[in-house]
Amino acid sequence: MHDLLKRLGIADINPAACHSDWVSGGETLIPSVNPASGEPIASVRSATADDFEAVVASAHARFKEWRMVPAPARGELVRLLGEELRRHKEDLGALVALEMGKIRAEGEGEVQEMIDICDFSVGLSRQLYGNTMHSERPGHRMYEQWHPLGVVGVISAFNFPVAVWAWNAAIAAVCGDTVVWKPSSKTPLTAVAVQHICNRVTQGTEAEGVFGLAVGDRHAVGGPMLGDRRIPLISATGSCSMGRRVGEAMARRLARAILELGGNNGIIVTEDADLEMATRAIVFGAVGTAGQRCTSTRRIIMQRSIAEDLTNRILRAYEQVRIGDPLDPDTLMGPLLDQDAVDTMMKALDEVRAGGGEILTGGKTLDRPGFFVEPTVCRVRPDLPIVREETFAPILYLLEYETLDEAIEIHNGVDQGLSSSIFTTNLLSAETFLSHRGSDCGIANANIGTSGAEIGGAFGGEKDTGGGREAGSDSWKMYMRRQTCTTNWSRELPLAQGIVFGD
Ligand code: NAD
Repeated sequence: MHDLLKRLGIADINPAACHSDWVSGGETLIPSVNPASGEPIASVRSATADDFEAVVASAHARFKEWRMVPAPARGELVRLLGEELRRHKEDLGALVALEMGKIRAEGEGEVQEMIDICDFSVGLSRQLYGNTMHSERPGHRMYEQWHPLGVVGVISAFNFPVAVWAWNAAIAAVCGDTVVWKPSSKTPLTAVAVQHICNRVTQGTEAEGVFGLAVGDRHAVGGPMLGDRRIPLISATGSCSMGRRVGEAMARRLARAILELGGNNGIIVTEDADLEMATRAIVFGAVGTAGQRCTSTRRIIMQRSIAEDLTNRILRAYEQVRIGDPLDPDTLMGPLLDQDAVDTMMKALDEVRAGGGEILTGGKTLDRPGFFVEPTVCRVRPDLPIVREETFAPILYLLEYETLDEAIEIHNGVDQGLSSSIFTTNLLSAETFLSHRGSDCGIANANIGTSGAEIGGAFGGEKDTGGGREAGSDSWKMYMRRQTCTTNWSRELPLAQGIVFGD
């Protein structure tokens, strides 16, 4: 472990914050803990109010220069960042596994997402297109252009400790913005490692200081960030309750927010579905990352005629799930993040039992160090209140339906609206689910599970998931300000709407 930390430059107590230089931080130490053992890995100093101020002031000053660098040249620097991430994919992926507890393959997958979004952003740097439109006035030209916005604040969650930063930072950088990152204080070490990578790439270039970091909790960094008028956009990923506070604070100062919040993702399985394929997708979606993905599969809504068959297939597949050290290549499911996460899961299962639900497999903690639990499958009624909540743990609820309309009603009958899917071989059922009277989520799939999105599409969800969109497609528009311009190249001054004013 020590060699890994040394290679990433984070073996000792790490400083709290960074703009182009590291800032030493205050006395408060934030421990980074290995969830597979419960043992500390290292410590990171928490940023003080002065540190936070230094990072934001630097990002604000750097923005004025960075916005003057042509967008394709900004893209070139993001290309170099992607190259450096390629070189560190294994080490950074291993650190994600060590600190967050997802298995190594998923840790490396997360770093691959960072690389992918850098590649996407390089192309995007030459495609920040605006529209032109025909003016109603003779001798006039009208068009829209997109300008850099300013300092973008990124608040990230523990479960995607590096990829979500990259989704925001790579796009923001090619758009001409600078970035201040507040990572989760549960995963501070991966953030420090990423900042070292950024520093190596940007040192001595025009991008020096474009990426800044301030490690600290909601009191030390989160709160001050929300109130800082030098930050016109905050992209916040986390729970719905956090998003509500961020949304309110940003609305109060009429600033922008991208909110990427909790999900309660369901899969409808119809009687004509390929049950073998559905089972594989369900198990990956529910057990992967120990149920700690925003897109984890939490509810299976299955047609009554195949319910018993599908249930048996899922239970058989759960027997094969190898639980253990995330760094062991044979492991399929690692631990939960911490004791709080274990307690939350057990409390949810108490509610299942109290509400008449039946636990078909799992439900217990594992007798070993760290925060390991059994992946759990429950048969429940759709109106059980706990089913409507996102419990960030490997609990899968099985629900039954008769007609597709009923299935869609159950599916949409929760407050969250992130990811969704249907398994069916019936074209009509698939298209109904993907139509405007089908899934109400930001992501809707047919014959693919709920988790594992690609960066090329816009990522995000509706309802309590917050309505934000990140990553591909035209999500970049949130990171720029739109300007509508009209030039009069005639010698007349006609007014719009044919208004005649005076002579
Ligand atoms: P969390 O809400 O506890 O914390 C997320 C981040 O918000 C952390 O950095 C935290 O310090 C910060 N924060 C919390 N309260 C704040 C406040 N008042 N002001 C400023 N910052 C504040 O979430 P978590 O436990 O780290 O992550 C799990 C949650 O994130 C789940 O609900 C999951 O669904 C969600 N998530 C959503 C997406 C998505 O893209 N929709 C992606 C990943 C995770």
